[in-house]
Amino acid sequence: MTTNPTSEARRYQNLRAHLGYLKLNDAAEHLNTVLDVARSDGLSLTAALERLLEIEVEATEARRLASRLRFACLPGPWTIADFDFAAQPGVDENLVRDLATLRFLDDAANVLFVGPPGVGKTMLATALARGTAEAGARVYFTTAADLAAKCHKAALEGRWNTCMRFFAGPRLLVIDELGYLPLPGDGASALFQVINQRYLKSSTILTTNVGIADWAGAFGDATVAAAMLDRLLHRATVVGIDGPSYRLRAHQRTSDTLRAAAGHRPAPAAGQGGSHAS
Ligand code: ADP
Ligand code: MG
Repeated sequence: MTTNPTSEARRYQNLRAHLGYLKLNDAAEHLNTVLDVARSDGLSLTAALERLLEIEVEATEARRLASRLRFACLPGPWTIADFDFAAQPGVDENLVRDLATLRFLDDAANVLFVGPPGVGKTMLATALARGTAEAGARVYFTTAADLAAKCHKAALEGRWNTCMRFFAGPRLLVIDELGYLPLPGDGASALFQVINQRYLKSSTILTTNVGIADWAGAFGDATVAAAMLDRLLHRATVVGIDGPSYRLRAHQRTSDTLRAAAGHRPAPAAGQGGSHAS
């Protein structure tokens, strides 16, 4: 049997057009290459189809991840692998590596990073958020001040319910920097409502420089603080990071050199932190 080159050419054009019509653009683009490889390597029909569709699936996955990451508004590219545990003796490495398995998402459990500035709270929260996005779930990163401002604006514009639905949506919500600035008037109650509606449904990661015992003071309202802590801590991992500031490491090194030159000993690193509440 002879193949008619004209009908073969038409078939190829049709195939490309079908792929384009179905919006399988990456497959359409790679059709030629895959057919070449199929011919040169003697691939079976199944193997050739598998290769073609694999190209489309990978491209779709990459697009979806990029869109989840755009939505997430992460403040940096960090992953757990970027975190230098040796430089931060104040964090429990096993605890963080366990969190990085993302088991906590299945229990809708929360994570609190508590510690002074510069110890890596934002970096670790971001790394867990990135891992979650890479695992296929929706993530949103915000600061406490920004969340309060968004809710305040939504209330003024009559979009309160939409705003609450927005913060209830993501599988993981990161609220960074609670306690750095006093929350504006209705900020504490907005934050409480966000935490409350996510309670037992989906996970929230919170970073704060305020020790849990001092929350009442940080919120101005002891009742709201207690109610919020109640929900946050009911099912939570608390990661205390009580170590040296990574940000100040370079400065520390310079000052240690200067001090050594002046005949003083360098300052010792601070101690351990880390506890588990469930
Ligand atoms: P915090 O939120 O506790 O104030 P950050 O997470 O913002 O601290 O960390 C401050 C800076 O130092 C960031 O650029 C972060 O990437 C870096 N950093 C902090 N801890 C580490 C660490 N253990 N390994 C690598 N980089 C770190
Ligand atoms: Mg921070």
